[in-house]
Amino acid sequence: MMRRGKVLLESSRQGSVDSKGNVANDKELVHKCHSDPGGGRALGANPRTHRHRSASGATRKCVLTLDGYSYVIGQHGSLIENQQGALTIVRRSSSRSKAESCPTPTDEQLDSLDLDTEHLPAVDTPDACDKAALRLRYLLRQLNKGEISAETLQKNLHYAAKVLEAVYIDETKRLADEDDELSEVQPDAVPPEVREWLASTFTRQLATAKRKSDEKPKFRSVAHAIRAGIFVDRIYRRVTSTALMQFPQDVIRVLKTLDEWSFDVFALHEASGGAPVKYLGYELLNRYGMIHKFKVPPTTLENFLNRIEEGYCKFHNPYHNNLHAADVAQTVHYMLCQTGLMNWLSDLEIFATLVAAVVHDYEHTGTTNNFHVMSGSDTALLYNDRAVLENHHISAAFRLMRDEECNLLQNLSREEFREFRTLVIDMVLATDMSFHFQQLKNMRSLLSLAEPTVDKSKAVSLILHCCDISHPAKRWDLHHRWTMSLLDEFFLQGDKERDLGLPFSPLCDRNNTLVAESQIGFIEFIVEPSMGVCADMLECILGPLHSSSKNSTSSAEPINEESTGNENSTKFKIRKPWATCLSDNKKIWKEQAAKDAEARAKQEEENNSVPPTTEE
Ligand code: AMP
Ligand code: ZN
Repeated sequence: MMRRGKVLLESSRQGSVDSKGNVANDKELVHKCHSDPGGGRALGANPRTHRHRSASGATRKCVLTLDGYSYVIGQHGSLIENQQGALTIVRRSSSRSKAESCPTPTDEQLDSLDLDTEHLPAVDTPDACDKAALRLRYLLRQLNKGEISAETLQKNLHYAAKVLEAVYIDETKRLADEDDELSEVQPDAVPPEVREWLASTFTRQLATAKRKSDEKPKFRSVAHAIRAGIFVDRIYRRVTSTALMQFPQDVIRVLKTLDEWSFDVFALHEASGGAPVKYLGYELLNRYGMIHKFKVPPTTLENFLNRIEEGYCKFHNPYHNNLHAADVAQTVHYMLCQTGLMNWLSDLEIFATLVAAVVHDYEHTGTTNNFHVMSGSDTALLYNDRAVLENHHISAAFRLMRDEECNLLQNLSREEFREFRTLVIDMVLATDMSFHFQQLKNMRSLLSLAEPTVDKSKAVSLILHCCDISHPAKRWDLHHRWTMSLLDEFFLQGDKERDLGLPFSPLCDRNNTLVAESQIGFIEFIVEPSMGVCADMLECILGPLHSSSKNSTSSAEPINEESTGNENSTKFKIRKPWATCLSDNKKIWKEQAAKDAEARAKQEEENNSVPPTTEE
């Protein structure tokens, strides 16, 4: 007779802390595991396993330790009468403090392990957990030694993934059963409040609904344990990925620094033979698990990114090209993963944010909205002079996705598609610089409230806007290159304006533009305030998540936090690598401005001292 096991899921801490002090949840686990494009550190999450068997043999458990969490996967009831019993995750807890008490297999045990995958126990049996766990341990050791064949790695990861999937299926079914039980209670049999109480206390229903409605998610999630299965599944997909696009070695090398604030997108451009959007877009969507989660066919994604890249190159713009798209997408990635913002967002919101970043200037004409309006372009006519370019970027990108070969949203549900589309439209429209002051003002006044509730769409829109104008907050060499490219583009527009008899737009007259001064102004009045509000917003959003994760554990290390002077109270602060870059860059521009002024004065003096020509 088969007895279903009782499932208990506990979380004694809500996130782990990496060496940089960042909070890691399951998404970050995935992120970390994917952070080595070569897959060499694919098992960096350090799975360790151990099987427990009580003296009576009544409960059989397998402990899988994954990045600081112990997943106790077991079967309740007598082993004798329950050989085929369902696998259940019975407990999840932090293993940091207990790691020592969780013996790992000895070298001898690992040495004697037979890696044959032909004769393994069925994936939904307790033995399978044990075997899979041992194998993960073994693979980890071999990976560290660099002694493992791709085939062995694939086969064994495949098996481990299947085992965890079996656990996942079992748990999912149990959750569905719970929901069914509640739905059997007639709607009018109990008052709505009671029903709500029932749902919140006895099912996970409300937890999911709440995540959507009150926008106060926590790191803690009852699904963490289930996601461990998905985690291994993703490692597997990553390693086996015959269907996934192959990355050139040079691209892999450059992408190793993808998480850095001053990532060199120009180096990626070179390494990728001029296709930074293709590789960076693909890498990001894969790292965040979007390909898997939203069932994006890899070839469709590749087609989509290729076409987007082409669109960025259509007008041969010096600045608004594929490099700028890749740069903004990478900066958004930094904000998502290095501040912990990704923990506040749903998968769909992350997906929309990444895609919005990639498409936000698609088919940019290299001229400004003002130019479109003043020259009466077709696009200005189409969009009635309002956010002309931004409307075009969005419309053209969604039009592209109508082509089945490029439709990366083909497996989204109707609701998901609507939510995704609304988010992308909101985000890209908010990159119109004419909304800048309004956007900052609105966010500032919201943050000044005693208990601000930040709207997800507004938050990601501000993030995208800030990333869009972030190059003055990057390393000088990168910022300087971007500035020169933008000025080239502005001057080309100035040439067109002159040819059309239109007045010069600001910064577009190549003979009369104060470059250094304009940059100081841009930094002081636009970029610095934007980054300031953006940081305040992130601290406001992520502070409560941080404190809830801290309250649930005594072993958590401080995350991105700064002391306020009071030993007992620390205010959550994100790291701001942009602050030093901004002040360094401003200093350089100020020196440049002083030199330019001197040169101009000298020139004027020379002009004044030139004797009049005979004709005059
Ligand atoms: P987008 O056109 O969507 O890339 O939005 C960014 C806008 O910020 C640009 O179009 C410029 O108007 C402005 N911008 C970016 N960098 C600079 C810069 N170095 N100097 C002046 N304006 C800039
Ligand atoms: Zn842009």
